[in-house]
Amino acid sequence: MHRIGLLGGMSWHSSIEYYTKINTAVAQRLGGHHSAQIFLDSTDFADIRKMQLAEDWAGADASLAATGQRLQAGGAEAIAIATNLMHKCVPALEAAVDVPVIHIVDSIAAVAREHGYSTLAVLGTKWTMLDGFYTEHLEAQGLRTLVPDEQTCDVVDQIIFDELAQGVFTDTSRARYVEIMNDLKARGADAIALSCTEIGLLVPPETAPLPAIDSVDAHVAAIVEWMLAEELASDRG
Ligand code: GLU
Repeated sequence: MHRIGLLGGMSWHSSIEYYTKINTAVAQRLGGHHSAQIFLDSTDFADIRKMQLAEDWAGADASLAATGQRLQAGGAEAIAIATNLMHKCVPALEAAVDVPVIHIVDSIAAVAREHGYSTLAVLGTKWTMLDGFYTEHLEAQGLRTLVPDEQTCDVVDQIIFDELAQGVFTDTSRARYVEIMNDLKARGADAIALSCTEIGLLVPPETAPLPAIDSVDAHVAAIVEWMLAEELASDRG
């Protein structure tokens, strides 16, 4: 089994999901007492949040690069960032380490391709939806993307940071998100990417009003595929 290094704590409410889901998949595949070899570097999210609000992306780049180097020095053979937004720092992280970075957007695109979706709505933080680093990465893989209007993006973003990333999940916000998903469906989305790692905790993908790809599930599948590459290849014969 290959060892994965996880950049976590963004937020810790979804890092738990990564830890549980990676271990569950590895145990299912290998059986018995097997569990996943994970290095988890869980940050103080307040530091990252301060940089986001100041749009200090150079500071965020330096922080994630340093974390990646720590994980690599500890023995991680690949790295995964357990948040969508902070994939904005992938170029800096990739430049700082010699091990591969398993990209969350590639894993979502792979699931979309598998299901034959062509127009994917994206729901996440305002930078994930509007800044281009994320949607352009999807579009480069042949998908059309749709996001809410700017005012609605602010509402989605505010709920993420004021509630979900602090472990608060309310019926009112769930209803608002479902309404926004319905609008995106009406605009022509054939599926929606839950492109914030806490959204699936508010609106589980199976309860969404259109087919939904949970970014945590897609990312975990790609991570486990990489961790167990040899075992899975021998299974396939
Ligand atoms: N977990 C969220 C995401 O997937 C947002 C928190 C963060 O800023 O990383 O984008």
